[in-house]
Amino acid sequence: MKIDLHQLGQIHLKQAKTFLDRHIGSYDKELGPIIHDMSDRRSFDQNKISIFLILAEQVENEIKKIEKRTAYFPTCSQGCSSCCYQAIYVASEEIKIITAWIKQQKDSAFIRLIKERIQSWHSSFRKTGFSYNTNDSSDYKAKYFRAHIPCPFLNESNSCMIYPVRPGACRTYFSFGDKRACSSSAFVENTFDVVPWSTALLISYILAHESVINNPDLFDTHIDTSSTLLPIRVNQLL
Ligand code: SF4
Ligand code: SF4
Repeated sequence: MKIDLHQLGQIHLKQAKTFLDRHIGSYDKELGPIIHDMSDRRSFDQNKISIFLILAEQVENEIKKIEKRTAYFPTCSQGCSSCCYQAIYVASEEIKIITAWIKQQKDSAFIRLIKERIQSWHSSFRKTGFSYNTNDSSDYKAKYFRAHIPCPFLNESNSCMIYPVRPGACRTYFSFGDKRACSSSAFVENTFDVVPWSTALLISYILAHESVINNPDLFDTHIDTSSTLLPIRVNQLL
């Protein structure tokens, strides 16, 4: 099948909608028992992470199926990290999952290292004169990329330290062209942000979560879908 990026986008959109429809009001045999178990406050955070990881894996499998069907494969590879210098916007719920996962590692050296990296990010961020009133305009994104501030979760080997719970914005951004171009600009031809999948992942997670919080016997937990620059809020939650 010979297609262009626009057609590829339409295929992803259709498939992401189907995925989301499947997750409205019904849960498969993997998710059902975990959602049921969320009535236990002691395992609440663990179960939240498990739900996210299962949904994230399902989304990744769906994306891989489309790659196979269309024979349209990204040129991204491990250790390639120019996109980790971009302004990454995340929903607050994603930040909560990231921080819960970091704490779950129960590794004080790991947590200390992450805290140091986040402090260093804030210091670089302030030095460049950026305001904490971020916005997602093209100008802001271009300026942020030029400042060349690495994501605090990017380690020395150019790997993501929170890879299993990395935000939707990271897991659905691909290049289908020369990957060297990604180091030159925040806006590169042949890169592709499969937004429908990051949206489907977040919404299906929130739906699973809401099926629990709508139960008055359980928890009064507030779902927040506002979005902000990744490192800004992680620091407050750790
Ligand atoms: S989007 Fe570009 S920089 Fe990011 S992993 Fe893919 S090829 Fe590398
Ligand atoms: S969270 Fe991970 S994948 Fe995303 S920008 Fe940071 S280091 Fe890169």
